[in-house]
Amino acid sequence: MQTHFTAEQLRDPDIAASNQVLRTCVHCGFCTATCPTFRLLGDELDSPRGRIYLIKDMLESGRPASEDVVLHIDRCLSCLSCMTTCPSGVHYMHLVDHARTYIENTYRRPWHDRLLRAVLASVLPYPRRFRAALAAAGAGRAFAWLLPASHPLGKRLRAMLALAPDTLPSGGTPPGVHPAEGARKGRVALLAGCAQQVLAPGINDATIRLLTRMGVEVVVAEGAGCCGALTHHMGKHDPAIASAEANIAAWGHEIDGDGLDAIVINASGCGTTVKDYGFMFRTAPEPLRARAEQVSALAVDISEFLTRIGYAPTREPPGLTVAYHSACSLQHGQQVTIEPKALLAKAGFTVVEPADAHLCCGSAGTYNLMQPEIAGRLRERKLDTLRATSPDLIAAGNIGCIAQLAGGGLPVVHTIELLDWMAGGPEPARATD
Ligand code: SF4
Ligand code: SF4
Repeated sequence: MQTHFTAEQLRDPDIAASNQVLRTCVHCGFCTATCPTFRLLGDELDSPRGRIYLIKDMLESGRPASEDVVLHIDRCLSCLSCMTTCPSGVHYMHLVDHARTYIENTYRRPWHDRLLRAVLASVLPYPRRFRAALAAAGAGRAFAWLLPASHPLGKRLRAMLALAPDTLPSGGTPPGVHPAEGARKGRVALLAGCAQQVLAPGINDATIRLLTRMGVEVVVAEGAGCCGALTHHMGKHDPAIASAEANIAAWGHEIDGDGLDAIVINASGCGTTVKDYGFMFRTAPEPLRARAEQVSALAVDISEFLTRIGYAPTREPPGLTVAYHSACSLQHGQQVTIEPKALLAKAGFTVVEPADAHLCCGSAGTYNLMQPEIAGRLRERKLDTLRATSPDLIAAGNIGCIAQLAGGGLPVVHTIELLDWMAGGPEPARATD
């Protein structure tokens, strides 16, 4: 694709990076076939190719983002299915991330949109605030009928109340060192995450149990927290960078101290972002730039790490069929597709996959809160295809998907909870609900 940026525009490193991405696109349109929003809405402007044109026009003109551009970019899930499909290697993620930041800096959203986005950005990344908000949501659910269903804010608040769980499990993942059982074979940092440790603290518990049982010391580093993805995908550059920088500093301290063999991540939405820290900090001063690159190189999904160190079950298989839901951030964002299924099969489960496994379930960070109608339609499609496989339960590697698919008539657990169970851990609470 030809671009027409001026020399002055290209001095901006973000424009220069987007220019490279845009010039890779050959407009072939292959990506439209696997784009969930294009398949649902049928509008070229809700396809990757259409959005690429919109972003190109917006950036080249240098004008503030228009309402139309914002509409179509906001509808993008950042599921990255288009990146898997694209034969030319267009890095759509970097392009749309830049577009979201550009929109945030140049477009004044309606008051209710600004309010909601500000609240989400100041609550979700902080476990204590998120827990308090969920408790309030539980109490507020009885009054959901008071929210106007026709107003965008009312719709979104209703979606939030519907997603809030009835009860919250206790627990969390405080900083600390979990020593290896027996001789230490390795040492990793675990990203404890933000929303996940509130919604399902058992996922980190299972990860720590399994790794330490396999001889790996696990450190939850002091000072590490949200990976920054939630605010990054809202175009809120500064808080995203601040979160990422805190993690880089915390893990850097561990690297310089007792050393790290890996930074293990069990929420694939976070994994995609941490693996991109090298890019996010590409223009940062040294030593931050190099440190960010080092952190990205050490980041692995838990399924990659377990494959690397040789996971082996110790229990008799329970004879359960597991429908594996491949989170977009894992299959498209990180291209991790084989490991989770192979590990589940090794653990003794019969693994099945739904039709159209490449399509998003509609979770996508805060998408199901901000775009509840599209997200709801994608959820129903995903649940239909999962049910069609007649499984006993669903396994996924991302808390967003787990929350999105919960309540659909099948138990939903994290892959690691099943692997831990088959290697001596407790049976996941939801495995046979
Ligand atoms: S498949 Fe790739 S090259 Fe083709 S239109 Fe989509 S993004 Fe562009
Ligand atoms: S990220 Fe997903 S929703 Fe967005 S353009 Fe690509 S395929 Fe479509």
